[in-house]
Amino acid sequence: MSDIDQSTTPAAPGYTRLKRADRDIVALGIAVSAILMFVGTGGPALSAIVREAAGLGLGPSQLLSNAVLLNVALIIFGWRRYHELTIEVATRRRTEAYVRLLAETDALTGCLNRRSVGPATDALIADAKARGEATAFLMIDLDNFKLVNDCHGHATGDQLLVECARRIKSLVPPRSLVARLGGDEFACVVAFDPRNRERVDHLAAAIIAGVSAPVAFGEFSGQVTVSLGLTRSDGQNRLNSGPINAATLLHMADIAMYQAKKGGRNRHLWFEDTMESELRYRSEMENGIRDGISRNEFVPYYEQQIDLTSGELMGFEMLARWHSPKFGAVGPEVFIPIAEEIGLISELSESLIAQALADARGWDPKLTLSINISPVQLRDPWFAQKILKLLVAANFPPNRLDIEVTETCLHDNLAGVHALVTSLKNQGITISLDDFGTGYSSLAQLRTLPFDRLKIDRSFVMSMAEDADSETIIQTIAALGKGFNLPITAEGIESEEVLAKLAKLGQFKGQGYLYGRPQPASLVTEMLEARQRLAPSEALEAVRELVASRIAPAAKTQRSA
Ligand code: C2E
Ligand code: CA
Ligand code: CA
Repeated sequence: MSDIDQSTTPAAPGYTRLKRADRDIVALGIAVSAILMFVGTGGPALSAIVREAAGLGLGPSQLLSNAVLLNVALIIFGWRRYHELTIEVATRRRTEAYVRLLAETDALTGCLNRRSVGPATDALIADAKARGEATAFLMIDLDNFKLVNDCHGHATGDQLLVECARRIKSLVPPRSLVARLGGDEFACVVAFDPRNRERVDHLAAAIIAGVSAPVAFGEFSGQVTVSLGLTRSDGQNRLNSGPINAATLLHMADIAMYQAKKGGRNRHLWFEDTMESELRYRSEMENGIRDGISRNEFVPYYEQQIDLTSGELMGFEMLARWHSPKFGAVGPEVFIPIAEEIGLISELSESLIAQALADARGWDPKLTLSINISPVQLRDPWFAQKILKLLVAANFPPNRLDIEVTETCLHDNLAGVHALVTSLKNQGITISLDDFGTGYSSLAQLRTLPFDRLKIDRSFVMSMAEDADSETIIQTIAALGKGFNLPITAEGIESEEVLAKLAKLGQFKGQGYLYGRPQPASLVTEMLEARQRLAPSEALEAVRELVASRIAPAAKTQRSA
């Protein structure tokens, strides 16, 4: 436990009461004044008794005898009361100290708890300042503790926390504070020479190394890593111009810890001003995504996919767009990773797919619809069922749907992807391997996984005009596609020059800004109408109604926002 004496916290409410009782001299006063009175009245009474015994005079008067007897009774009463009070105060002091100790410490690890670390830190800051020292606040979070709890049970989790606390306490210098802030989060507060920040860096590194050393007890053996954020009481970097106290230090260290975790875990990071604004932006984005899904702010845009040999339109790739009332137009490369992280990707994606299927029902039935799927969704064992449900609800033929998965999905979970791809293909859905050339898919994977198409990453196609290497790469991918009997799509075609070069390399499908930017459903419908490539009129009417019913509430929320 911390070296700070926790039994005397002057701020505690019981403390003043106890102090008052401690100094209660009323009972003692009664006893003392009774003794004084006894001295005053007892003298004449005693001398009267002595005189009577010697036959020299009368004994003490009735009144004097009563006064002496009353005096003796008062002395006994006062003294006993004072004695009882002393015992009572001592007992209460012990009980209150014990209760306070329970309220201020974490029962499992014996560290300070979240409530008590604040006042103790403020006291330490003041103490250190008086000695010309600064105070560092270290926030320590175990990275994979939840996994231990889930897989090995809470008793093992508790033992692990106790062991972590023990290791942390053994590493901090004397007079430091160690607290458990809740769950798997600990804090240390240490005073240090402000010219010697390295000492705190060393301590942080030692805590990370110490806590993440292997642990073994009972049947359990394992390891947890640690992310650590830290800040100092005298630093330039601070949240605002207000005073630096325990609360601000904790907040800054928490932000730094979050960044350390985000930066790859098992590391320590000092707080910097920019972290705070980043965090606020990020949390506003998260809330915006949460609200935006229900307000239909996420809409599908469509990019044409062309048969490069015949120039014919073959279908569209759906690309998500966010019309945020707060952030404006936001691209998928910004909001998809956040939606993945906060567990909303499936909900978001399903809403987009449902809209896209409804839109595509209005197109010429020969046109296909490609959708992008996140690796997180591929790990969902219900993914195939969810897609089928959406297809059935939209009455959309599975053979018009193409699902694009990126190469990065493959090394995550090859067996899982294999089962999923097979089950989707059995329904008639086709699967394309997106961004090919940027990941690490091996020839073996290409052979094992039953893909229907390879999409060459746009970075190679876009740089083809000036970079001979890109052309060689595309040539190689084209040969690979031929070998595996996989048709190829080239994405990112921006110029006639690139188009001409591609034509020499083989027969591809292609897409890119040369054929226009991705467009919203309404413009796609207009374009298809002009080309007479809409679905037969009854189907089209139904689609128009669907689109109109979807646009109305979205427009309303945009106006009111
Ligand atoms: P992607 O699947 O590789 O999509 C192609 C991206 O390249 C799109 O960017 C598209 O607008 C852009 N692009 C197309 N042609 C050209 C061109 O000629 N030149 C240039 N410079 N760019 C071109 P976007 O829409 O920003 O999408 C980025 C990525 O976001 C997509 O890459 C895809 O991986 C992901 N994404 C988009 N929508 C969704 C979605 O609904 N779900 C998931 N999971 N991911 C999505
Ligand atoms: Ca794609
Ligand atoms: Ca791509």
